[in-house]
Amino acid sequence: MIQFGLLGKTLSHSMSPQIHSMIFKHTKISGNYKLFPMEAKNIPNLINDIRQGKIKGINVTIPYKEIVIDMLDEVSKEAIEIGAVNTICLVDNKLVGYNTDYFGFRKTLSLHNVVAKDKQIAVLGTGGSAKSIVYVLKSIQAKKIAIYSRTPNTTEKIHGIASLPYTALDSKHNYDIIVNTTPVGMFPKVDNSPIDKRALGNAKTIIDIIYNPFYTKLLLDAKTKGKISINGMYMLIAQAVKAQEIFNNMTIDDDVIKEIYFELTGGEAIG
Ligand code: NAP
Repeated sequence: MIQFGLLGKTLSHSMSPQIHSMIFKHTKISGNYKLFPMEAKNIPNLINDIRQGKIKGINVTIPYKEIVIDMLDEVSKEAIEIGAVNTICLVDNKLVGYNTDYFGFRKTLSLHNVVAKDKQIAVLGTGGSAKSIVYVLKSIQAKKIAIYSRTPNTTEKIHGIASLPYTALDSKHNYDIIVNTTPVGMFPKVDNSPIDKRALGNAKTIIDIIYNPFYTKLLLDAKTKGKISINGMYMLIAQAVKAQEIFNNMTIDDDVIKEIYFELTGGEAIG
């Protein structure tokens, strides 16, 4: 059985073992996926286990996505440019870091036929996931990307974009797509939303990368206004599938993402 796992600090609520086990079942990979919660001082031992082949590959989550970069031999282009690694694998005896959140978000857009090219897009929040998502949106040539923050900053830009205050997001905006990357609305504070329902304006598509609950208040508000509402479960599954593609040097069909989503939501089809 091939060993994989997730490195992080507090991991007890992680869905990753469940999702990777489902990928193993769908792809017939004979794998085991374990949680590796630890303090930063113990990370070099885990990295050593990968170098020695005891572990085939790991995913990395908060708060270690940046600090692992210095422990690697190579880092993929998108992970360097985003500034965060969430997947590590031994390739030709070199430890290589990747960012599969990038692929997870790209895949979320393509699975739902969301065209971001030439569109005006608002991103809420300025954390780690906002950096990956803004990078994706820039790489697929969105026409305009605006980033909203509780503490707007014109000097510390994300991929060259300064952040704006939420007071500047009123109902008359022209955004086609709004993406929430803040934790507002996440379990257990499910009655909260990062923006007022009116601020959805005329946007056609609302994406919330939160996956617990499946439908946040933001997405429920969007649904009542007839907008396309996409949750974070697709991104979570798609980034895990991409990690297994990298670990096993294989291609996994998109149907696997859809089927796992269907199983996890208890029968809700993608779309
Ligand atoms: P993070 O680095 O902590 O950043 C979150 C950002 O949200 C912060 O930088 C902050 O920006 C804003 N924020 C935080 N608390 C807020 C509040 N109370 N009100 C308004 N804004 C607030 O976190 P992250 O890693 O980007 O993750 C954010 C969320 O995305 C989490 O819920 C996480 O579970 C989810 N996520 C999902 C996936 C997936 O695969 N679906 C992947 C990664 C993350 P400002 O200070 O600038 O306002």
